[in-house]
Amino acid sequence: MGDRADAQRRVYLDNAATTRISNAAFAAMEPYLRGGFGNPSSLYAEARMARAAVEQARAGIAALIGADPHEVYFTSCGTESNNWAIKGCMHAQARTKGRKGRFVTTAFEHPAVLNSARTLHEDGFDVAYVPVGETGFVDERAFAEALGHGADLASAMLANNEVGTIQPVARLARAAHAADARFHCDAVQAFGHIPVDVRDLDVDYLSVSGHKFHGPKGVGFLYARDGAPLEPLMDGGRQERGLRGGTENVAGIVGMAAAAEEACTNMAEDARRIARLRNELQRRILEEISGTCINGAEPRVPGTLDISFEGVDSASLVELLDERGVCASGGSACASREGEPSHVLTALGLSTERAQGALRFSLSDETSEADIDQTLRILKSCIDQLRNFGLIDIARFRS
Ligand SMILES: *Cc1c(COP(=O)(O)O)cnc(C)c1O
Repeated sequence: MGDRADAQRRVYLDNAATTRISNAAFAAMEPYLRGGFGNPSSLYAEARMARAAVEQARAGIAALIGADPHEVYFTSCGTESNNWAIKGCMHAQARTKGRKGRFVTTAFEHPAVLNSARTLHEDGFDVAYVPVGETGFVDERAFAEALGHGADLASAMLANNEVGTIQPVARLARAAHAADARFHCDAVQAFGHIPVDVRDLDVDYLSVSGHKFHGPKGVGFLYARDGAPLEPLMDGGRQERGLRGGTENVAGIVGMAAAAEEACTNMAEDARRIARLRNELQRRILEEISGTCINGAEPRVPGTLDISFEGVDSASLVELLDERGVCASGGSACASREGEPSHVLTALGLSTERAQGALRFSLSDETSEADIDQTLRILKSCIDQLRNFGLIDIARFRS
């Protein structure tokens, strides 16, 4: 295969940003986008069908995470689930306790968590950010210490969206409960890729988003443990036990449940294959391109690889890779437009240069050996080009 063949074929290695919808998810949705349009809250046959589909999806998802169906609430995305759990828990406790409490989280959470924390702070709540180490793991001692000052809720992600590191959530949750705090987990990068069981993790709340595991966009769910404090994020009708009004996204919910089922059924086998390809890509980059280093240590989710290229600006690299048919990301999709070094890599204590030279590849079960070969070939020529012409860029920026 030469450049001509490469030019016709795009390689998608940004599955941590979003995934292609699976055929099974699409097929499951289609009936509800056409004939089955009944409002689940209405009382005739069409509506009962839609209601049954939503409740079947709820039961299916609950079974996959070890929850009861009534502990699963459908939302519009991972961002909503995070906002709802964090603000809903903090405000509910403020109401019953008659004082605004303390929220503990980590420095490298997704913006949906960090900006929820900022809003809580602006609203008079106390917020603490626990540092993370250079290898991409929460400082557990600092976490316990932050909880020791008395907290209502702590939140930590299961898998980081940039470096892929898997946090010791069960231990963090145990520390939170020992300090009489509730625990929320952003499992958006983890669910469908590694086992997620709410009882094993011992979490009170857990956020998931459909489009990160080959489900549709615009749908997610929040697990909230029976009896865990939770105020509605918005006021509305009686949907989702009266806590999240709004007519259900029936097709989206059904599609997400189908994708969840599929992802969890094939998980062990897919994870092995994806990790093997990811490790091969990592090994060959380290061997064949000088001035490279990996960000984030093991354990990581199988598909994620974050790697810094010395003397390269990742925004230019992403652009050049795109021109040649490879989709990757510099930092996370949520930060990639701002031109600032990633807050995740900065939180790890990496230098600005290393953070700005960081590229994230994220593989999926659709990634092939040929994709890895093609990516490596193109990546090498892009790095050569950027390093050789880097001086021109610098001159341009300085003038
Ligand atoms: C993508 C992502 C989110 C946000 O999910 P959306 O459904 O896109 O709102 C939250 N947390 C993590 C870790 C993510 O990767």
